[in-house]
Amino acid sequence: MRVVVTGGAGFIGANLCRELIMRPAIDEVIVLDNLSTGYEENLRGVDVEFVNGSMLDRPLLQEVIAGADTVIHLAARPSVPRSIADPIASHEANATGTLYVLEECRRAGASIVVASSSSVYGSVPELPRREDLPTRPQSPYAASKLAGESYALAYGNSFGLSALVFRFFNVYGPLQSSGHAYAAVIPAFIHAALSGSPLRIHGDGTQTRDFTYVGSVVKVLADAATRRVSAATPVNLAFGSRISLLEIKDRLEVLLDRTLDVSFEPTRQGDVRDSQAASRVLLDLFPDCDPVPFEDGLELTLKWYQEHLNVEAAGLAASGGNGGHA
Ligand code: NAD
Repeated sequence: MRVVVTGGAGFIGANLCRELIMRPAIDEVIVLDNLSTGYEENLRGVDVEFVNGSMLDRPLLQEVIAGADTVIHLAARPSVPRSIADPIASHEANATGTLYVLEECRRAGASIVVASSSSVYGSVPELPRREDLPTRPQSPYAASKLAGESYALAYGNSFGLSALVFRFFNVYGPLQSSGHAYAAVIPAFIHAALSGSPLRIHGDGTQTRDFTYVGSVVKVLADAATRRVSAATPVNLAFGSRISLLEIKDRLEVLLDRTLDVSFEPTRQGDVRDSQAASRVLLDLFPDCDPVPFEDGLELTLKWYQEHLNVEAAGLAASGGNGGHA
């Protein structure tokens, strides 16, 4: 089986490639990534074919996807604040880019797994978020992800393309970048804690997220690819945890056995207050899922940063540069 991973040099993509190459059903993994927020060194020692280029380059995209059985489409311009800084760039990567990838999957007869985001639920108040709730994007990032997932479902309906849309919640773990303005909260907290700086909290810290360990996410993605699972509606890829930023700080204090300083800052534009997945649809499709509990995932993540983070390299990521997600 030949699998293409767009965005495979990014945080989730590089973890996914490590999982895919261990699956006996998969013979070949090809990564297409323009290294805008990912890093080639994330794939060092991983047996994949790396193509450095953009999914917006249509002839290149056609060449890469021709002959693929499955595409796992992760490439995107991530993060809410990035999309507020440049909404057109987010639309081009996340909406137009997804449309181009779908078109090449249709041409090649490949199935596709698409990364969408819990941010599409936006200001909908109900918790946990069920997939049949309305979507109310609050940021250009969320709107662009909703456009991308809508195109994927429409291609399934209109052209019989085998498509599966996953809404990721807050994924964290090894290889996630830190130490820059768009870092997601867990790497940002760990980076600050290890470099002796205060943990910056936007808002009062009681806002909650469904933090999902990357190892649990990539196992589901690899299963979806090898079993060619498709669905007519989006599927949440998270397990229903609800953890506040202050709880992460408390847990890090236990793991590091010291008190951490905090600086409270204004709430960020476009951020949602609370987020938690309903996971029944996911568990119906993937009954063998065995997610890593938050306490264990955070410990594994902290250990990875302790081994890999060069806190002297101010502003540089542990392994690359990627954004924080709602
Ligand atoms: P990431 O930034 O680490 O990975 C994205 C990758 O896409 C990067 O390697 C980047 O270089 C690549 N890319 C961007 N534009 C490209 C282009 N035009 N052509 C080719 N490659 C391009 O981010 P991530 O956290 O690994 O996110 C992966 C996917 O999951 C994204 O679609 C993101 O929107 C989605 N997602 C992530 C989270 C999360 O918590 N990390 C939450 C919700 C959704």
